[in-house]
This record gives sequence, structure tokens and C-alpha cells, in this order.
Amino acid sequence: MSINTAKESNLALCPQCHKLNSLPGEPAKRAKIQCLRCHGFFYQRKPHSLQYTLAWNIAALIAFIPANLYPIMIIYPLGIGEPSTILSGIGQFVDLGLYPIAVIIFTASIIVPLLKIIGLFLLVYRVHTGVRLRPDKHSKFYHLLEFLGPWSMLDVFVVTLLVAVVELGFVTSVAAGPAINYFTLTVIFTMIAANSFDPRLLWDKKHNNE
Ligand SMILES: [Zn+2]
Repeated sequence: MSINTAKESNLALCPQCHKLNSLPGEPAKRAKIQCLRCHGFFYQRKPHSLQYTLAWNIAALIAFIPANLYPIMIIYPLGIGEPSTILSGIGQFVDLGLYPIAVIIFTASIIVPLLKIIGLFLLVYRVHTGVRLRPDKHSKFYHLLEFLGPWSMLDVFVVTLLVAVVELGFVTSVAAGPAINYFTLTVIFTMIAANSFDPRLLWDKKHNNE
């Protein structure tokens, strides 16, 4: 099954007003395209999409290291402050018998960001190797990654949950640790990385990496 893409047919969709613009001239000479209807400028493919995605993704991965090594919260179960990283914090909640909170923190802080980072690396790799991709399969995969993005912000809800836990008297006090800053950076960087990725590269037969 082979369908001509808009790019192959010298067409480009304006992202602002959604007009399908017919393009004159050689594909190589096209940098910015001006929309015939709204006169806005846009690109047929995001320039340097793979490089940007890769760079932001690496930054996210780097920020994820201190996010896990530094204490993310300091729990005071017996009045004595006990700094805990994401993983040891999960262990503490398990010890306290607060399993739902442990599961939510594990999903939001470890599984979701890692899935997103690995997934984006995989997409960049697949597009870069340039073999004919399965556009349907890979587009679904990309939209799944985009869908995962906001779920990293579950940690915000976790803070709310922790306040409730304190109120209920399971632990006396909870304070945020320095890792929360790095964790926030990880979430922001992966969001920018996913946004830099141009999913249309998935259905280009051969792309110029530009
Ligand atoms: Zn337009």
C-alpha cells in the first residue's frame, strides 16, 4: 500500500488556518512557506526536528538522574526528618501501608517519564534510520506519547494527596526536597522534546534530516 503524501504532491498544510497550499518550485529551495490565505509563515516539516527532539530528550534524561538521587521529600513519620528519594519514598509509603499513594507516585514519577523518554528516543531512531515506517503504527505510538505528557503532572496531585495524608495523621509533616526541581525540569524537557518532533517525518519515505 503506497499513498502519496502531501509533501510528495507539492502541497503543505498551513498550521494556523488549515489551508492546503499548493507549492511552486523545487522542494530543496523551500525554507519558509507563506500561506496564501492567512499570509502566515510555516514550514513543510519542522526544521531540524530530530536534532531538537534528541537534544531536549537527552536534557530530560540528564535531569532525571538528580531527580532520583536527591531527596524529593522529607517525611516526618516520628517527628524526625527523614529525607527520601523518589524510590525510597515509595518504599516508605509501602511501609506505612499507603499502597495507592505508592502506586501513583511510582507510575507518575518513574514509569511515565521513562516511557516517554525511551519512546521519543525510539521514534527519533526509527525516523533517522530512514527505512519505510509503518505510519499508522508509529503515529499511534506518537499520540500515545503525547497523551502520556500531562500524566507526569500527576505529581502535583500527589502533593495534594500528601497534604491529606498529613491531615489524616499517618505522618506528621512532609517537606519538598531539591529533587522536585530536577523532576519538574524532566517533565518540561520531555514536553518540549515531544513538541519538537514532527510526526509527519514518520510517513516521509526518505527525509533529509533537515
Ligand atoms: Zn494559513
